[in-house]
Amino acid sequence: MTRFLFAACLGLMIFGKTAQAQSYPTCFNAQNIPVSYFPDQTISDIAIARNAPNGMPVVLWNPNVTANMHPATVEFFYYHECAHHALGHTLGNYFPGAEAQADCWAKKTMISIGVLTPQKYQIIAQQLFQQSKPGMDWPNGAVRVKFLNNC
Ligand SMILES: [Zn+2]
Repeated sequence: MTRFLFAACLGLMIFGKTAQAQSYPTCFNAQNIPVSYFPDQTISDIAIARNAPNGMPVVLWNPNVTANMHPATVEFFYYHECAHHALGHTLGNYFPGAEAQADCWAKKTMISIGVLTPQKYQIIAQQLFQQSKPGMDWPNGAVRVKFLNNC
């Protein structure tokens, strides 16, 4: 029971290490299973979406990394990681273009639920521009933001 409450609270409330707890809508994977978010200081990136050994969809996020990011950017990554589950990327459907697709899904989802203001988008775009590492879908943050602007 304790374990259940712990997981439920994390899924609803916390992604980031900010003074005030952020509250985001529950994320569901492509099979409509709710995704649980867990802090993990050992991962080398801000966060990763994967399936736990028991098969349940999870996102592991690094509080040491999110602590240095603007809350708007942390919020964006909540949806970016959710996208990997919602779009089936974690179910064997990961491909070149999947990272850009996850960014786009995050942006569109935030717009559709009314949480992406122009001011927030400016902050997110600036942090992605400055801090994105080269990845499968972009050589640098400038290209990443260009994709996101055109999404
Ligand atoms: Zn990703």
